[in-house]
Amino acid sequence: MTDCLFCKMVNGDIKPDTVYEDDDVLAFRDINPQAPVHVLVVPKTHIATLNDLDPAHAPLIGKLYLAAQKIANDEGVAERGYRTLINCNAEAGQSVFHIHLHLLAGRAMGWPPG
Ligand code: 5GP
Ligand code: ZN
Repeated sequence: MTDCLFCKMVNGDIKPDTVYEDDDVLAFRDINPQAPVHVLVVPKTHIATLNDLDPAHAPLIGKLYLAAQKIANDEGVAERGYRTLINCNAEAGQSVFHIHLHLLAGRAMGWPPG
């Protein structure tokens, strides 16, 4: 999608601070980190929200989590712990409409989330 920020990162028009990439997934540091480690894991294909997933996307979503697992290991936070989340639509606070998994770590996380 030409007017999508994360598609621009996937196609190289914008260069993010990439921490992981493979054929299906790109992961980069959030520009406004909410924890010492805050990485966004995005599929290279454009999917706007969690509501737009269909069963064919199941392997791709699994790959987002496997990438998060690897990044958590690489960042040295896997044993301490980390949080992964996907915001969907307005009340959850989604602001970029290309689905992305947040990986947050490096500090104690509150519950319930705000
Ligand atoms: P959402 O609110 O949609 O769940 O998350 C969007 C995230 O994208 C936010 O955490 C925000 O800080 C991050 N973000 C927005 N613009 C940019 C950008 O240009 N570069 C990077 N690396 N992150 C961005
Ligand atoms: Zn996109």
